[in-house]
Amino acid sequence: MVAPDFLPPDLRVPSRQEVAGLMMRWLQPLVIGGEVRTCPGCGAYRDWIVFCMRDDSIWLRCRAGHDTKEPGLDAAWYNRNSGPVDRFHPTPEEGLRHLGH
Ligand SMILES: [Zn+2]
Repeated sequence: MVAPDFLPPDLRVPSRQEVAGLMMRWLQPLVIGGEVRTCPGCGAYRDWIVFCMRDDSIWLRCRAGHDTKEPGLDAAWYNRNSGPVDRFHPTPEEGLRHLGH
């Protein structure tokens, strides 16, 4: 009987338990599946805040504050495009201020 004596380092992923989600600013038009996303509330097509929530869903917020769930994107897309997380924010409001919205 041999017990495993180590865990691979990549099992020790950073915990996201403490934060409600991640967010980044996305200034250019957001093209998903060959189409430019527009806000259903006001028709904006650029300068989004992109949220990656704890359930791995993606939400978009336009400059006017309309939140829209984006089923065409997922956490894997977010991680590919967001780069390293530079800071966490205790509340979404503080995060938005940091990002200039
Ligand atoms: Zn809008």
